[in-house]
Amino acid sequence: MPTYDQECYLCPGNKRATVESNPHYQRTFVFDNDFSALDRAPAACARAGDPLCRYESVKGTCRVICYSPRHDLTMPEMEEPT
Ligand SMILES: [Zn+2]
Repeated sequence: MPTYDQECYLCPGNKRATVESNPHYQRTFVFDNDFSALDRAPAACARAGDPLCRYESVKGTCRVICYSPRHDLTMPEMEEPT
C-alpha cells in the first residue's frame, strides 16, 4: 500500500467528499464526518408509540480522526510518542 493515495478522502491535501479539502496535516487531524449519522440540529420527529419499534430524533456530531498522515499505517503499526 502506498504512503499517500491521491484518490483517498483522508490523505493530507486531498479533496474530501464535499467541497472541502484536507490541510497538509503532519499530526493527528480531526474533522466533522462528511456523511454524519448525527446532526447538530436534527429534524423534529414524533416518538413512536409501539415499544418494539421505537425512534426519536437526537442531535450530535460525528468526527473523523486521522491519527497519521500516512495512508498505509494501521493503529498497531504506529509508534507511541516519546
Ligand atoms: Zn489516505
